[in-house]
Amino acid sequence: MRRSVRSCFKEGGYVYATGAAEIAERSGIKPVARLASNENPFPPPPGVLDAAMLALRGVNRYPPEQQRSLLEALKRHHGDYHFAAGAGMDGVIETVLRILVAPGEKVIVATPTFSFYGVAARAQGAEVVHVKRAGDFSVDPEAFVRAMKGAPLGFICSPNNPTGNATSPGDIAGILERIDGVLFLDNAYVDFSDLDYRPLMKKYDNLVIGRTMSKIYALAGLRIGYAFLPEWLVGPYGRAATPFAVSTVAAAAAEAALGEREWEEAYLRHVRTWRERYSREVVRRVYPSQANFVLVDVAPKRSDAVTGALATRGVVVRSCRSFPDLEDHYIRVSIGEDWENERFISEINRL
Ligand code: PMP
Repeated sequence: MRRSVRSCFKEGGYVYATGAAEIAERSGIKPVARLASNENPFPPPPGVLDAAMLALRGVNRYPPEQQRSLLEALKRHHGDYHFAAGAGMDGVIETVLRILVAPGEKVIVATPTFSFYGVAARAQGAEVVHVKRAGDFSVDPEAFVRAMKGAPLGFICSPNNPTGNATSPGDIAGILERIDGVLFLDNAYVDFSDLDYRPLMKKYDNLVIGRTMSKIYALAGLRIGYAFLPEWLVGPYGRAATPFAVSTVAAAAAEAALGEREWEEAYLRHVRTWRERYSREVVRRVYPSQANFVLVDVAPKRSDAVTGALATRGVVVRSCRSFPDLEDHYIRVSIGEDWENERFISEINRL
């Protein structure tokens, strides 16, 4: 009888923001301001909910194997690119790792950043190598290219979680020119920026761009993401992906959400307004952000202490202590509804 758990699952794993959420629940303050997960605080628009309800009637059947209708909708939305969908961008990341990385190979990650790249890469048996960003959190293209020598895959997040800054398409192009492996560019927050990396797909066949429906499209609970793939990865993606990973309901909602341009614009205006208000009204250093959250420097206080104190006052933010290569005095705060943001500002300014 064998009961041995692989070493990568004996400790570590993805760090959730649940600790603070529990403290906030216990505080008795209701409702709690939920600013820890960079979600859209507003529910999806009625047309999206209707599409999801309609799809729900058909869930006795498996989803279509290829999700052709969704992939066609993505083409109508973005143009003539190759796409693949997954259970969240997280699902897409796992599939891409499965295809490209053999156990023992290196996966390069520009840090501090979203921790799931490392978690998923280790699960694949990879050795994760960090390339630390500079003091202003910019990626040093030279250092990244150097680290990528011999590596099949690297990850850069732009705009980056949790720092909010972006790496320019020019710098990404420079990296793509000089690496042999594939770059996974995580564009989870690109809709909140003024940048467009899609044209790079036409020029480079070693680029995968990850996208999610969890942020601007308000579908985090449905778990759906997708990627722009180079053509040569389309076949392998179909073979490596978990069968039926994208649910019928998620696909229908995503397809409907892509058409909600006005609704999207209204949320974008809300995000821009509040990014500015955070930077003006919070009496601590707020980093400029191209995303729907900001990074706040709470030094000399520690990340967990501030997160805990805010939680007791009914505000859940993300302590950045668990982000590799980030000093222990930052919190990440999402842009929520007006009342949530207002409560955050008044509570952080009183700490
Ligand atoms: N990439 C980044 C940078 C993220 O912040 C997140 C979610 N927090 C994801 C990917 C995962 O997105 P999804 O919900 O589509 O799995």
